[in-house]
Amino acid sequence: MKRIYFFDEGDGRNKDLLGGKGAGLCTMTQLGLPVPPGFIITTEVCREYYRQGRLPDGLMDEVKEAIRKLEKITGKRFGDPSNPLLVSVRSGAKYSMPGMMDTILNLGMNDQVAEGLAKLTGNERFAMDAYRRFLQMFGKIVLGVKGEKFEEIFERKKREIGAKSDLDLGPKELREIVNEFKELIRKEKGFDFPQDPLKQLELAIEAVFRSWNNPRAIEYRNFYKIPHDLGTAVNVVTMVFGNMGMDSGTGVVFTRDPATGEKRLYGEFLFNAQGEDVVAGIRTPLKIEELKEKYPELYRQLEEVAEKLERHYKDMQDTEFTVERGKLYMLQTRAGKRTALAAVKIAVDMVKEGLISKEEAILRIEPQHVEQLLHPQVDPRAKVQVIAKGINASPGAAVGKAVFDSKRAKELGEKGQKVILVRPETNPDDVGGMIVSQGVLTSRGGATAHAAVVARGLGKPAVVGCEEIDIDVERRCFTAPGGIVVKEGDVITINGTTGEVILGEAPLIEPQLTGELQELLTWCDEVKRLQNWANADYPQDAKKAREFGAQGIGLCRTERMFRGDRLPLVQRLILADSPEERAELCKKLAEMQKGDFKEILKVMDGLPVIIRLLDPPLHEFLPPYETLLKEVLELRFKGGSQAELEEKERLLRRVEAMREANPMIGLRGVRLGILRPEIYEIQVRAIIEAACELKREGWNPVVEIMIPNVGHVNELKEMRKLVDRVADEVMRKYGIGVNYKFGTMIEQPRACLTADQLAQYAEFFSFGTNDLTQSVFAYSRDDAERTFLFPYLEKQILEFNPFQTLDKEGVGKIMKMAVELGRKTRPNLEIGICGEHGGDPASIEFCHEIGLNYVSCSPYRIPVARLAAAHAALKGREKAIYL
Ligand code: ADP
Ligand code: MG
Ligand code: MG
Repeated sequence: MKRIYFFDEGDGRNKDLLGGKGAGLCTMTQLGLPVPPGFIITTEVCREYYRQGRLPDGLMDEVKEAIRKLEKITGKRFGDPSNPLLVSVRSGAKYSMPGMMDTILNLGMNDQVAEGLAKLTGNERFAMDAYRRFLQMFGKIVLGVKGEKFEEIFERKKREIGAKSDLDLGPKELREIVNEFKELIRKEKGFDFPQDPLKQLELAIEAVFRSWNNPRAIEYRNFYKIPHDLGTAVNVVTMVFGNMGMDSGTGVVFTRDPATGEKRLYGEFLFNAQGEDVVAGIRTPLKIEELKEKYPELYRQLEEVAEKLERHYKDMQDTEFTVERGKLYMLQTRAGKRTALAAVKIAVDMVKEGLISKEEAILRIEPQHVEQLLHPQVDPRAKVQVIAKGINASPGAAVGKAVFDSKRAKELGEKGQKVILVRPETNPDDVGGMIVSQGVLTSRGGATAHAAVVARGLGKPAVVGCEEIDIDVERRCFTAPGGIVVKEGDVITINGTTGEVILGEAPLIEPQLTGELQELLTWCDEVKRLQNWANADYPQDAKKAREFGAQGIGLCRTERMFRGDRLPLVQRLILADSPEERAELCKKLAEMQKGDFKEILKVMDGLPVIIRLLDPPLHEFLPPYETLLKEVLELRFKGGSQAELEEKERLLRRVEAMREANPMIGLRGVRLGILRPEIYEIQVRAIIEAACELKREGWNPVVEIMIPNVGHVNELKEMRKLVDRVADEVMRKYGIGVNYKFGTMIEQPRACLTADQLAQYAEFFSFGTNDLTQSVFAYSRDDAERTFLFPYLEKQILEFNPFQTLDKEGVGKIMKMAVELGRKTRPNLEIGICGEHGGDPASIEFCHEIGLNYVSCSPYRIPVARLAAAHAALKGREKAIYL
């Protein structure tokens, strides 16, 4: 088993073995880019180290061998004062974990080497600077001396001589610092810092392996779901020096702008500096574009490197480089992290540049990218007052009144007020409060704390761990830096995308589909097989959906058409005793609803619109029993008008008679259609009349009528008769024929089990996966989410929330069965899904696999769903190839 690879021999694709950093160094070396020579100790050795609890036998012999080879290549020697080889010892795991593990620079330094280096370079300051850096890193990382203790010494020295920046420290002061550092180590450890370079190397390698399991790294891996058993490689790299004077320096450069995706070099450069100085912010670095004028040659070289790297990796790269006396060296490259905006622009641009295919571009964009671009966002042009900053735990912006406990949040939230729940941290008791809030702000906890996990699960913006604010729950207020006090009821805005807390109501902008995202989504439409439909009850929703690329309406709920100014009519209809009165009211309601349908069908002209007949139980349109009871009692005791009392009592008796123990599985949906057919008749009449009139006006309405809550074929048979009869009547009256489809929701297990029978009457199925999930699990969603569901997720009894991501094993299984049974009876049966799952990428993939025709979701999720449908198709293709 080969344990050590030099950069010219390792396979740059093998990140598993070489780690990302090592693989990148191999690739750059083999592309002919200027990389200082070095070698990699593999991740396998790290895993071995953890199995044995110590460096594996014989490893150090191989390392010595490698050092000898490195000495030959560089012509320098380890520990030789007249021509010393210095190296860096760098961690590097398969997945980039920036700053999480440790790196040691200038290894090989000791008293003699430092003196030799000073002579050799004629630059004592440089030699002492390199030495003190080494002592500091080695002391902290390898020997475990607290970093602050080194910094104290360093800062004290700066103060003593009134230095503004570390550049003001001369060779004399640096030498004094070196001595104090050595003294510190002796005092803290009880032994002298090891002068032998090979001993230093051995200890450093072990320290890098150890750093794989430091708490920061573990937490990072937990958050990003990186397995803990991968281990890190160790990279031993010949040192190059950016701190050799003003013709030297160190920098980072992205091959494109990671914020906007624009194709130009983006980054920073710091003169006379080493390693982390750029990121540490000790001096203000130059912007890369400033190099262009001052050092055109260097800039040109960087451009050339960027070009080569992009041509090889076919992706934007984030690189580290150092310039030693005017010569450029590349020290790292990796795929650059980028914003959603940049991700989309870069993918689309790279297709146009011929670097990648459209399919590749689609696969590079993650649903979260699209989601992020489509969340309401704080208007970037607006002037806002940022009062604190925390962890951006769940994206999007939310505006509302600050409230300091869940009870209050519920009181206000249920009244329709917009609130932001502000808590030191949240626990399962707060879930109810979080549900009614616009967003969540906490002062404690990290990106994986309860508040963050639940907020992301609910899709609510959240800023967590905002330690800058001081929350006083008792007095219901919090204090932000600068003494700004926010009291209960004061309006704040939280920006879960950036982690900012803003005083007052920040202007938000509605998302729009433009530019590259628009273009990418049209490519998605070319490859996807599933259609994307939308759930929309109102014309303006339908308009938005169409704008976002919806190819139909998968669910238009009609119950809202019974509310508002129509409610009194509906109530009278429910309570009416005489057939004449009923007929009269029906006519009026049908006329009103016709208008609603016409509008939505116009917006969707030429595309299918599935209209679902009334679903909820009728008593939802009447005042609640408890309210009426209270009113009656009050009238009785206080004594009011007798007529009013009698009227109320009559209503109370009617409502009482209609009360159900379990309304969600009581008299509703098709059951109502059968017992109170006049209501469905009104609706069918309104739909078909709307279609006839539109047709007469030259439009092209495509109507599909859907029956909810069906569990037995006879229900559907009865409803089909009703629909066909009323439709016939209407078409005869108008003398116009319309092709409408008749179909059913599939939201009960029995409907799935008998789908072959249902398909005798239904021309389409639409899975109502919310209700289907409730009925398959026998969970009531509202109760579940308020009580046991989130504890279940925390305890990992459930892997995910089945109301957000389709439960393939249970609900999915019965869906698959329904698809197969249904198509056995009617091969061209149109099947889709109209639950929230229709906008969830993992669920969409499943819908693709079981052969649905479309997925339907809320208008704002259509772009995500289009991408997910394309991903499902492309992944399906991959699977087909590898089978
Ligand atoms: P991280 O994984 O945190 O990025 P690195 O291993 O890349 O850590 O090293 C930290 C810093 O030290 C980087 O800025 C890098 O460029 C610099 N560095 C690493 N090795 C060398 C070297 N051989 N010569 C000069 N600078 C180096
Ligand atoms: Mg680095
Ligand atoms: Mg339902």
